[in-house]
Amino acid sequence: MREAIARAAVGDDVFGDDPTVNALQERVAALLGKQAALFMPSGTQSNLCGLLAHCGRGDEYIVGQLAHTYRYEGGGAAVLGSIQPQPLPNQPDGTISLDDIAAAIKPDDPHFARTRLLALENTWNGNVLPAGYAEAACDLARSRGLATHLDGARLFNAAVVTGRTVAALAEPFDSVSVCFSKGLGAPVGSMLVGSAALVAQARRVRKMVGGGMRQVGLMAAAADHALTHHVDRLADDHALARRLATGLAALPGVTVTPPQTNIVFVQVADGRGPALLVHLQARGVLATGLIGLRFVTHLDVDAAGIDHAIAAAADFFKS
Ligand SMILES: *Cc1c(COP(=O)(O)O)cnc(C)c1O
Repeated sequence: MREAIARAAVGDDVFGDDPTVNALQERVAALLGKQAALFMPSGTQSNLCGLLAHCGRGDEYIVGQLAHTYRYEGGGAAVLGSIQPQPLPNQPDGTISLDDIAAAIKPDDPHFARTRLLALENTWNGNVLPAGYAEAACDLARSRGLATHLDGARLFNAAVVTGRTVAALAEPFDSVSVCFSKGLGAPVGSMLVGSAALVAQARRVRKMVGGGMRQVGLMAAAADHALTHHVDRLADDHALARRLATGLAALPGVTVTPPQTNIVFVQVADGRGPALLVHLQARGVLATGLIGLRFVTHLDVDAAGIDHAIAAAADFFKS
């Protein structure tokens, strides 16, 4: 990847003449079966530009209570777009019930914000949306005049698990955001895909929020390398997540949610989770405690690393 970065031909992407960015945008638009794509510094900005391209001031978007676009992006849609979120409960599998969506769509009446958009996420907390759900939810949204957006930061993980193409997973949605910097292992970069008109609008928003970059072909080259070399190997991350889950589940007082992809959620009895994190960190094992204990496997972690993590956790429960 470092060599691909060094070799990259570059131009000025603010003027649309960086050949490496343009080639990547064409590649990703085709891969996801959409007309156009726009390179972004981050997934947060890509979702934001999508939301602001779909919605104007006083519009509303329907979103999961625990969705990244609602909960973990600094409230950007509301702060920068004056878009009102209508959060709805996420079911344990990451879906929002169709009844909840239908009931939350407001009639055309000046009392209400205009419901404009349904935003879903796949994978959500490492879970793949159930087969047929996105199609049904997007059909419902479309029948009520709403546009649809998918936060697909981890969509390649979903494709590898289900054996479906990312184009098939993206098909029900008007716009999709994908990340190159999560499991795919590029330093930065995301892409928003959709119709040419939507992407043109998103390009205006990206400039407004400071996301227009100059010789950013350097980063597009990294993302291109990741797409070529790091997609199929996501299956290795998933296998290592299962190995970690099995090892941790055997420890006393530990409950593990079986992982579908590369994210392992762990509950520890007697409030000892934070102490376990500190213990692991001192032994070179990093996990987050933001929403329960959360371990993520990725291309810098191998089987020996997983076994080391399991042994370090076992050591904690012996003491
Ligand atoms: C990481 C992530 C994002 C945001 O990506 P950043 O590049 O960190 O801004 C959005 N959605 C989901 C589901 C993510 O996992």
